[in-house]
Amino acid sequence: MSRTVDIFGAGLAGCEAAWQCVRHGVPVRIHEMKPHKSSPAHRYHGFAELVCSNSLRSGQIFNAIGLLKEELTRMGSLIMEAAYANEVPAGAALAVDRTAFSDFITDRIRNHPLITVIEEEVTAIPDDPDAVIIVATGPLTSDALSQDIARLTGADYLYFYDAAAPIVDASSIDMNRAWEASRYDKGEAAYINCPMTREEYTAFYQALISAKEAPLHDFDLPDADKSGKDGGLTVFEGCMPVEVMARRGMDTLLYGPLKPVGLPDPRTGREPYAVVQLRQENTDKTMYNLVGFQTHLTWDEQRRVFGMIPGLEHAEFLRYGVMHRNTFMNSPKLLAADYSMRTRPNLFFAGQMTGVEGYIESTGSGFIAGVNAARRALGMEPLYFPRETVLGSMAAYISDERVTAFQPMNANFGLLPPLGYKIRGGKRGRNDAFAQRAVDTAEQLMNDGLLPRPEHSIHRIASESDMQTEGESNT
Ligand SMILES: Cc1cc2nc3c(=O)[nH]c(=O)nc-3n(C[C@H](O)[C@H](O)[C@H](O)COP(=O)(O)OP(=O)(O)OC[C@H]3O[C@@H](n4cnc5c(N)ncnc54)[C@H](O)[C@@H]3O)c2cc1C
Repeated sequence: MSRTVDIFGAGLAGCEAAWQCVRHGVPVRIHEMKPHKSSPAHRYHGFAELVCSNSLRSGQIFNAIGLLKEELTRMGSLIMEAAYANEVPAGAALAVDRTAFSDFITDRIRNHPLITVIEEEVTAIPDDPDAVIIVATGPLTSDALSQDIARLTGADYLYFYDAAAPIVDASSIDMNRAWEASRYDKGEAAYINCPMTREEYTAFYQALISAKEAPLHDFDLPDADKSGKDGGLTVFEGCMPVEVMARRGMDTLLYGPLKPVGLPDPRTGREPYAVVQLRQENTDKTMYNLVGFQTHLTWDEQRRVFGMIPGLEHAEFLRYGVMHRNTFMNSPKLLAADYSMRTRPNLFFAGQMTGVEGYIESTGSGFIAGVNAARRALGMEPLYFPRETVLGSMAAYISDERVTAFQPMNANFGLLPPLGYKIRGGKRGRNDAFAQRAVDTAEQLMNDGLLPRPEHSIHRIASESDMQTEGESNT
């Protein structure tokens, strides 16, 4: 008989953690505040809701985020199974139909015999030190619980802001101006591209940098933000509002989300001065999001300024861009590499709130926390994932006591231990070697019986190139 694990939050990390517990035969109670209460970014009733982009970023193994997906897929991740089952074309990235993705996961969680779903807001962490608990309430944890976590940890909370990009109705895009293609014509024509001449770009740029932003409440701002840096907001580079990025210089966008390379306009055969890309939001291709256009502009200004983009003059906005507070813990002071609290080993944290950054990174921390909470419930020793895996490298980073100025981190090869030998083939050769070593290590964990093998293999659509996602980060 094992103890039941209580999981707070049925987001990406919470659902993955629940799945790993039941794969170990350990019962779970998962507490989720939706549909009674939602954060400012959550809209859908289902679990594991993707609140911003529908892209899970690169699907390729020689890229750290692609390798993390590979590890999770091989080891039996529910989130990865849902992603491949609900994939939509997106060049070399793995993007999903967000509604179908959430429904798939919700269905699995609600119908598993060992999982009980409790629809309630958790306002405090129970004091019982023997209770095995995973807190996975995300970057938008409700206020009461945030305060209780602050009380419990006694550590400083850190705040910064993320931004979501607008979504437009596909039928309102003027396809006489725009065209479908992926950069360098790689894979399917997964993007709609809107070209700009130098004059159009200049007018758009001037309008963008002087457009009106939505007001922020002073109580929402940490002290650092009141200094006025970057227009009054401390933002994570990978999710920076387009207007903040633009203010860095006239050409900045031309090397970022508006870069035209590899996108010749079929009408002229030449690369335009700038290109705005829109990515498919759903399988039916009825909705498209503006890639890299996370924004904090008022809705009126979004209509006016983004309506200056050729092809979007009459665009109907199905969702406007918004900005939200993002909360994360000072994990190196608090957590061990199994995501448990050092001072209370039966209490685990998982997801974005631990300082891993991104959908799949949050999933990965949920995977490790789930495996270890299950082991704790079964009276077993912790399983520290080897640093040679991306999963293990992220766990090592967030629990590294030597880190002083802790900042959230995406998966990257810089976190992995060096290879220790010379490799041919430059960066790509090195990344391939990192990938091989990580995959071998993951396989070894299963060969040694430390992790269960997946019950069945996952059907995947292979992508061809990483071009589209290079430098794209969270967009
Ligand atoms: C606005 C915004 C946009 C983002 N965009 C991206 C992006 O485009 N790409 C990317 O890779 N990452 C993005 N992130 C970062 C991060 O990857 C996501 O937030 C991700 O969903 C985090 O997963 P999670 O499981 O930690 O939290 P979530 O997926 O947010 O899950 C937390 C769950 O806990 C529930 N909950 C909260 N409080 C309570 C409570 N007290 N009691 C019970 N339930 C509670 C919530 O309703 C939610 O269902 C974004 C974050 C934000 C805030």
